[in-house]
Amino acid sequence: MSYIANDDRYNLMQYRRCGNSGLKLPAISIGLWHNFGENDTVDNCKHILRTAFDNGITHFDLANNYGPPPGAAEQTFGKIYKDDFIAYRDEMIISTKAGYKMWEGPYGEWGSKKYLVASLDQSLKRMGLEYVDIFYHHRPDPETPIEETMSALDLIVRQGKALYVGISNYETKEAAKAITCLKELGTPGLIHQPKYSMFVRDAEEGLLDLLQKTGVGCIAFSPLAQGLLTDKYLNNIPAGSRVGRSLPNGAITEDALSQQVLSKIRQLNIIAKGRGQSLAQMALAWVLKDDRITSVILGVSKPQQIEDALKCLKNIEFDMEELLQIDKILSG
Ligand code: NDP
Repeated sequence: MSYIANDDRYNLMQYRRCGNSGLKLPAISIGLWHNFGENDTVDNCKHILRTAFDNGITHFDLANNYGPPPGAAEQTFGKIYKDDFIAYRDEMIISTKAGYKMWEGPYGEWGSKKYLVASLDQSLKRMGLEYVDIFYHHRPDPETPIEETMSALDLIVRQGKALYVGISNYETKEAAKAITCLKELGTPGLIHQPKYSMFVRDAEEGLLDLLQKTGVGCIAFSPLAQGLLTDKYLNNIPAGSRVGRSLPNGAITEDALSQQVLSKIRQLNIIAKGRGQSLAQMALAWVLKDDRITSVILGVSKPQQIEDALKCLKNIEFDMEELLQIDKILSG
């Protein structure tokens, strides 16, 4: 049966302006890094995307290499988009990226104009789209001049293949250079996508200030530290969980569950309970408490996790005592 989106969806979500741009993003976005590959069922993927959109999540984050195998997540998304979402294209913000290895030879990864332009053309074909809303350079390239990489992003916008551009995994100094370069080219950078959560706080050391000063939005990836910042690993490793499934390409493994980490999770879980939230909800709220953050990109393996996560929006305020207690646990 063809999909009809929930009429109430825009009353269920908060939208935040992305830096100084005209674009607003939902406080919670959905990422397709895992759970949209060839080994995942299309039915579950469809259910995840429908649940997200029905709850006002308008932003879907992809990359050329998401799978496995690389390209599979864009293909799965494209199939579901064609069946369910084509009529809603103007209500969606779809992003993709290039930077990691996609094909053999010297033009299949990093930051040359050759690679970025070819990769986006491939992504558009896989997703069945005429353009993406945001195209990112996925990781800095130590060898290609930043001017070349940024001029490739500028070109892609001028060609109409992306509306906005962003960078990801750039450290503060590299980000500053990229932002200046894009501004000079006349295609201001919209957004930066760093890893940011209670467990990974590097962005606090200058990056968030830079983004605020330059009017660039910030979308945090892995806000649950790939699922560590939930209560799922407190007693065992559930079979269907990310650790339990031994996924490839940078997914967390059992090694992440040290006694020290588990002890932090246990203590954070008690604070979350005191706030009337699950640990996942508190971890998302903790990132969203900072108004320099435009959105968090949540990954989910089941639609119910979206419904659960959305409840975090009921309380994203923390009092000083809670913040101090959390900092103490995290540094302990
Ligand atoms: P998260 O930190 O959100 O972790 C996702 C995992 O957390 C899920 O797979 C699920 O684990 C668990 N989870 C989610 N919601 C709940 C819930 N309500 N209750 C309990 N457990 C929950 O993010 P990801 O690491 O998946 O990254 C999110 C997105 O960020 C990616 O899809 C991608 O779009 C982007 N990203 C970008 C990168 C970059 O370099 N730019 C790198 C990595 C990610 P389980 O599977 O065990 O059920």
